[in-house]
Formats: sequence, C-alpha cells, structure tokens
Amino acid sequence: MTTKSKLLLIVTVMLLALTAATIVNTSLNFREYSINSAVEKSQMAANIVKDGLTAHMVNGIMDKRQYFLDKIATSNNIKSLWIARGENVISQYGEGLNTESVRDAIDNEVLRTGESVQKITESTRSTTLRVTIPYKASTPVDNTNCISCHNVKRGDTLGIISMEFDISDMRESGMMTILKILGINLLFIVVVLMLINYFVTPYMNLFSNMQDGIKKAYSGDFTHEFTSKVGGDAKNVVSQMNSLFRKMQETFGDIKHNLATFIPQGSSSSKNDPLHEAKTIISELSDIYKFKKTIELDGSKDEVYGRIVDILKLKYHVGHFAFFEVNNVTAERKLVHSTDEKTICFEKTNKNALNCRAFRTSSVTISTEFPNLCKACVATDINYVCIPFYINHDISLTVSMTSDKIEEVDLMKKNIPSIKHYLEAAKPVIESQILMEKLKDTSLRDGMTGLYNRRFLEEVIDKIMSQANRNKDTYAVMMLDVDFFKMVNDTYGHDVGDKVIVALAKVLKSSIRDSDLAIRYGGEEFVIMLHNANDEGTMSIAKKIHSEFAKLSFDVGNGEPLRKTISIGIAKFPTDGDTIWKCIKYADTALYEAKDTGRNKIVEFRADMHKSGDDF
Ligand code: GH3
Ligand code: MG
Ligand code: MG
Repeated sequence: MTTKSKLLLIVTVMLLALTAATIVNTSLNFREYSINSAVEKSQMAANIVKDGLTAHMVNGIMDKRQYFLDKIATSNNIKSLWIARGENVISQYGEGLNTESVRDAIDNEVLRTGESVQKITESTRSTTLRVTIPYKASTPVDNTNCISCHNVKRGDTLGIISMEFDISDMRESGMMTILKILGINLLFIVVVLMLINYFVTPYMNLFSNMQDGIKKAYSGDFTHEFTSKVGGDAKNVVSQMNSLFRKMQETFGDIKHNLATFIPQGSSSSKNDPLHEAKTIISELSDIYKFKKTIELDGSKDEVYGRIVDILKLKYHVGHFAFFEVNNVTAERKLVHSTDEKTICFEKTNKNALNCRAFRTSSVTISTEFPNLCKACVATDINYVCIPFYINHDISLTVSMTSDKIEEVDLMKKNIPSIKHYLEAAKPVIESQILMEKLKDTSLRDGMTGLYNRRFLEEVIDKIMSQANRNKDTYAVMMLDVDFFKMVNDTYGHDVGDKVIVALAKVLKSSIRDSDLAIRYGGEEFVIMLHNANDEGTMSIAKKIHSEFAKLSFDVGNGEPLRKTISIGIAKFPTDGDTIWKCIKYADTALYEAKDTGRNKIVEFRADMHKSGDDF
C-alpha cells in the first residue's frame, strides 16, 4: 500500500469514527430531549386535569368531567388520558365513571406509593410514553382545600392521572437528523479526501521520484533527474539534489576515466557502480604499486619471478600452476616454478615452445573453450588456463594454471586481467634485470680495454632505447677516433698502438658516470653514450676527454714522447635521430666532418651534414 493510500485511509477512518460519535451523541441527546419535553407536557396536562377536576368539583359539575378530560386529551395531542380514584375517594364518593377504574399495574403502583411513574414502550412501529402521576391531597394554595371535601389526611393519594403520548415523531425526526448529519459528514469526508489528494499527491510523487533516484544512486547510477510540481522548499531541495547528482556523476566519470588509464575498463568485477568500481580499481592499483615498488629493489630476475609466484599463490590462491620463461628467438622453454612434480605439458614443449598453443598464438588458452584445445597437454581430466606474456624481443613468460574443479577454472578466468596487470607491472623490471645480466656478461666486453664491445651494443641497444622511450630518457652519443693512428702502428709497432688504445679507454672511463656507457666500437674507434646529459654537460665531457687524451704522452723508447689527438663527433637522441642507431650514424657523420676539416676537434651533428641516401 502506498503512503498516500495509507494517509487517505487513516483520515477516512478518523472522520468516519468522528461521524459515528456525532451520530450516537446526537441521537442520545435527541431522545432524552424528546422524552423530557413529553414528560414536561404530561406534567402540565396533569396539573390542568387536576385543576380542572377541582374546578368541576367546586362548581358541582363533576358529571361533565369526561368531556373535559377528552378535550384536554385531544387538544394536547395525548393518545389516551384517564383517571382512577384512590380507595379513600371510592369509599367516600363511590367507584365513579366506568372509565375511572384502575387499568393496570402502573396505576396500582402509583396509587400505592404516591410516586409518579413514567415508562417508554418501543415497538418497530411506534414509541409510546406512559406517564402516571398521583393526585395528592395538598395544602390549600390557591383557595382549594382538598381536605375540606375529602376525608383524607394531607398528602394522601386521592387518585391518579395516566396519560399515553405517541412520541414516534421523535424517532422519525431523530432518524432524519441522523441522516442529515451522516450526509453532511460524508460530503465533508469526500471534500477533505479530495483536498488531501490534491495537496499531498505532488509531495507523494516527489517522494517516490526521490526514492527512485536514491535507489539508482545506490547502484552507482547518478543520472537520475529529480522533478517536482511542488514549489517553495521542495523546489530548492529538488534543485540541490539535481546539482549534487550531476556533480557526483561528473566526479565518478572523471575518476573512472582516470583510473581506466591505469587499468583497462571492464577488468573490475562490479559493473555500473562507479563507486565500487573505483574502490576496487584503487585497491588493485595500490596492490600493484606495492608489488612494483618491491620488485624494483629486487636483485635479480629470479627474485622477481619468485614474487610473481607468490602473487599467484597468496593473492589468487592458485593451487596448481607452472611458470615458464620462453626464449623468443630459440623457442626454448625453461620451467621457473611448478607447484607439482610434473607439468601438464609434453616434455617436448620445453624444447620447442611453439607446441604450446598459448605461446604460439600469443593468446590466453582455456581448455573449457574447446575439447583438446592445446595439443601439448598430457592431462585429459584436468582443465587449464594458460596466459602467455611477452616481455621483450628475447623472452616471454607463460603462466599455466590447472584445476580439476570447474569453479576454480571460472575463478582463474575471472582473474586473468588482474594477473596480467601484475605481469605488466613486472615487465619493465624484468627487462632491466635482463639488461643488467647482459651488462655483467664478459662475452660482451672487450678484453684489452675492459669496455663494452660492439656485440654488446648490438644486443642491448633496442632494450636501452625502449627503456629510454618509456622513461623519456635522452642519450648524447659520441663517436671518437684517434687521429692518424695507422702512423703509430706503422712507426712504433702494434704494442705502442695498443698502449694508446688502452690509455684512451682509461680516459673515457674516468670521464663518464656509472649511468653512461663506453663502448669500443672498432679498432681505435669508441662510442660514448651519456645518459640524460644536457648540451652543456655533453660538450664539457667531450672537451674533457679531448684535452685529457691530448695531455697524455707515450714513451716510445727513443726519448721523444709520443702525443696523440682525437676527433669527436656528437649526435643527440632523440633530438637528432629517433633511434640510437641513427644517432650513432649521425655521430659518425659529425666525426668525419671533424676529420675532413683538420682533425683534433669536436663537431656536433647538424642536419645539413646529412647526405641524401643516408637514411635508414
Ligand atoms: P684517421 O685520422 O683518418 O682516423 O686516420 P687513421 O690512420 O687513424 O685511420 P683509421 O682510423 O682508419 O686507422 C685504423 C687503424 O687502427 C687500422 C688498424 O690497423 C688499427 N688497429 C685496429 N685495431 C687495432 C688494435 O687493436 N691495435 C692496434 N695497435 N691497432 C689497431
Ligand atoms: Mg683513426
Ligand atoms: Mg679509425
């Protein structure tokens, strides 16, 4: 039942109760009033009769009394009127007329007790009031002395006067009055209900409109537009609610949009509830942030892999899974961790990961989607969810989760986006760990100078560049070459030549920071990569290397020390070239400009040095 119906029902019941009370009260009062007025009338009639009979007696016309009594009865609308003599009057004056005898028990009672009796007799058709009044021997008041004629004591009952009044009219007019009250009250109730309905309906509509809006808001939808036909305060409330909802909608829209830049939309389990969705995403972001902060300080790639294993076990409660690292170039697969003694894959899959459907197709492989989906799977009664994840050109990861319970598989499927977020967060850290491993690799270093060799450059340059792009890092690339070096070899022999190369390498090492790279690019050609150095800093390091090397003197045995100079070409990544390879090439171009224009100098790359056809 609606609130409005309840209100109308309560008002109706109250008004009907009031009507009923009014009717009962009115009818009781009306009845009492009618009876009282009939009794009063009977008293008057009784006095008239008494006085009339006394007058008849005094005037000696007692034989005419019946006429008098009839007249009194008809003129006063008395249904019947009779008198009866008391025993003392009978014994003094005889029985009297036939009509003057005692008619019933009431007459007898009044004669005996001397007390008036009144009685109402009601039938379905009529209502009769019967009044019997004693006629007593009284003290002379108005020249009438009963005792002078009657042989009685003062106060004795001489006789009675009985009258019957038809008071049916009273009942009829009472009924009419009640009907009128009922009619007026019903009309009043209808008018009141209509007024309530008229004034309350807009408030009720506003109320239910608000309920709808709040219900929607509870599920995260703040698009509801509140409307009301009520003015005043209600109108203010409506406009305030509307502006509040608009603000909420915009704010949550913004939050959702901003959060979606961190975590793709739809990955949250709570659809259409921006509040809940924001809460879920923020809590997931916070977890991922903590995870990332932790792995950034880990010392090795294996330690990072260990964290991923912990996340799978502790956060996602995956009971059975295997975690692989795949070499993208050779397609060899290495088991990093397995919760079980054996994985569900054929042995050969480790030799050739292309047998693994997830790796080969670069898409999540879920066994429930098609029978015998992955041909590399040995198990027939176990379901699997295999997530491939590309780290870089060299390696990929594969997480293979298994279960024989379908509800666990459903949970794994639900957690795929979330697990991928963790792998995504781990990706740059794994990449830099791979890079670190490479940097430590001796095969990538030049034995004579201890600097990185050209192979190193070839292997890491792409990783360095993707990292640089990601972190918005810059590199100043220098290409250095000893001037007229052949002459050293030719004049003083290869040993002296080697000494010059080693001495230059030392100058390079001592002139750069740990985050910079020095590479022996060719015979007496070197590449320096300065990490995040500004133009000024780059030039000052170039000058320092240039002058420090020029200061060196080499003992060549004949007392005349040998001094050499170098030429340097500089290009900057990403301002001169959008790849580091291009910048190496441009630095080489600048170096040749230095050679061509007299050597022993530093030249920065300019676009006009760039010959057509030099593009990569
Ligand atoms: P330029 O000023 O144009 O550079 O003249 P250059 O004589 O230095 O010419 P270039 O740079 O082409 O000479 C490179 C020479 O370096 C050729 C090669 O014999 C010599 N060389 C290469 N590797 C080594 C090495 O490991 N030890 C020694 N001693 N010499 C080397
Ligand atoms: Mg040279
Ligand atoms: Mg050279």
